[in-house]
Amino acid sequence: MAERIVMKFGGSSVGDAESIRQTAAQIYAAHRQGQQVVTVVSAMRGVTDMLIGATTSAAAGDHAIPEQAKQLLWEKHHLAASELLPGEFQGVLGEIQAELSNFSNLVMAISILGEVTPRAMDFIASLGERFSATLVAAYLSAAHGPARAVMADTLIVTDQHFGSANPLLALTGKRVQDSLVPLLESGILPVVTGFMGATREGIVTTLGRGGSDYTAAILGHALDADEIWIWSDVDGVLTADPRIVPTAHPIAQLSYQEAAELAYFGAKVLHPKTVRPAVEKNIPIRMLNTFNPAYEGTLITRETSTGSAVKAVTSIPGLALVTVEGRGMLGVPGVAARVFGAVAQLGVSVLMISQGSSEQSICFVVRQEESGAVVSALEESFRLELSQGDIDSIWREEQMVIVAAVGAAMRGTPGIGGKLFTALGEAGINVLSIAQGSSEYNVSLIVKQQDAHQAVQAIHDAFELSRSK
Ligand code: ASP
Ligand code: MG
Repeated sequence: MAERIVMKFGGSSVGDAESIRQTAAQIYAAHRQGQQVVTVVSAMRGVTDMLIGATTSAAAGDHAIPEQAKQLLWEKHHLAASELLPGEFQGVLGEIQAELSNFSNLVMAISILGEVTPRAMDFIASLGERFSATLVAAYLSAAHGPARAVMADTLIVTDQHFGSANPLLALTGKRVQDSLVPLLESGILPVVTGFMGATREGIVTTLGRGGSDYTAAILGHALDADEIWIWSDVDGVLTADPRIVPTAHPIAQLSYQEAAELAYFGAKVLHPKTVRPAVEKNIPIRMLNTFNPAYEGTLITRETSTGSAVKAVTSIPGLALVTVEGRGMLGVPGVAARVFGAVAQLGVSVLMISQGSSEQSICFVVRQEESGAVVSALEESFRLELSQGDIDSIWREEQMVIVAAVGAAMRGTPGIGGKLFTALGEAGINVLSIAQGSSEYNVSLIVKQQDAHQAVQAIHDAFELSRSK
């Protein structure tokens, strides 16, 4: 039986006519070798941001920005279509235009209402993928052979968690089998919209920003794919952000856990949930570069290779450290539960729980823009303890960064922590806090914003990541 591959192309891989040509060449190359290829596309680069930005402006009562966005979106897709498609295929522009006038009506309604529901936001945010899938399928048909755009609201069934919906894998599997397999078997190339799903009732949802990777993994799971290939504009997963560490280079192999840790800790490599469906069916993921297709990129599999104990260093900026402190907390049961309960009620996620300087405090890290609301909510819920002096204070420190060193072989390799902290000490970097109960695949710590780049560089140097293969 032919090998089955799900290939996902990110926004830059479909960013303009020339990129779409390169993308199509990769799809067709695999197809010609007898592989069954399911393509997943992101929106053209910048489009999702524009859709969300325009909708947010509309909700704030602005008419000009949404109108301008509509115009820019039209020009972008029109330009690509006119460069790519012979006249008889340009009918797809009519479909795009119709969707854009829907968009116009929706943002108009939103600006009149002065608010946007998460449900409406998801519908609008998913339009970019509708446009790109339509365009790519039309180009494949015109240039290479039969292809069909498939809107994932007919395939991926999710819960109602708008903005980051969770797939219902059993229902999805059945739909995918029923609609994609017949296409594959008759030699038609399906081009599926990334990012988007729908509830059982057919209401459009999205899987979270960067969610097209997740789409590819969900489809891979449903189709029992042999491999999942994620195409972007870099040579795979890098040892660090090259804007911070110029000598950062691609990592040949990662385990699923390592890839998941890296994604969670800010490496913009993969949507963090992507590895889950892949792990379940043990499907290898390849990270490849559309613009350097011969390069083998990064292979993500079950195996943990030996080699460097630390494989990569990442950072998440824009955070705040929140501390709840008080002598009266000592030995009082339930304080931690109340703290995190209050935070959860706000819908704020805690990125890391850290070890404070004394046992009489609880510290944790949240996004900076959410930290003010977190402190207010905690003050409210501990009003009594604050007035009685059982809790002395609740405060936040802004401009914090989590720096994480990731690698599965850290487990069981003695001296990693020592080496890491020595390197940071020698660089004169003050570590404010260390993660508690981290997964053994990473060591994560908190530093001030102004020290973050130097910390990443120091760890990268200490573990000689510029040299490792
Ligand atoms: N277009 C969506 C986003 O920008 C999904 C994706 O690119 O994966 O978040
Ligand atoms: Mg992406």
